[in-house]
Amino acid sequence: MKCPQCRTKMDEKRETRRWEEGGLVFTVEGAEVSRCPKCGEEAVGVTNIEGMYQAVARYLITARERLSPSEIRFLRKYLGLSGSDFAAHVGVDRATVSRWESGAQAMGPQMDRLLRLLVAHAKPIDEYPIETLKDVATAEPVDRRLRVAASTRGSWEARPS
Ligand SMILES: [Zn+2]
Repeated sequence: MKCPQCRTKMDEKRETRRWEEGGLVFTVEGAEVSRCPKCGEEAVGVTNIEGMYQAVARYLITARERLSPSEIRFLRKYLGLSGSDFAAHVGVDRATVSRWESGAQAMGPQMDRLLRLLVAHAKPIDEYPIETLKDVATAEPVDRRLRVAASTRGSWEARPS
């Protein structure tokens, strides 16, 4: 690709990068970084970004620990719902959603499971057998360090960093 600033041909390589989406920070292996050798302009992208977010979502909805505030926000945005829409879906008021996402109020384990089901159902993620729910949201939230890596086939896999 050509530099949008000076039209020089950019150098392209794959790097490990910190990524932030919907308040959630994770590490991406295999981000495509284009850098201009002349002016230093840089562009970072990934192939199959939907697949990357899906890998993160899949990891989160099968995690044993309850969802953290930033994970709740990430999944709500992954569902494509505004705070008000999400509040209406799960039967709480908008202020409650704000408190969950700011950490001012803990989301209870039942609501945590409901959010996971919404994610598994609304944007189907492989299989999410109902038995999964027995084991999720049973431990305290953690300051999770997540890493996603691209496979050669363009699919993504998430794991603890
Ligand atoms: Zn340039």
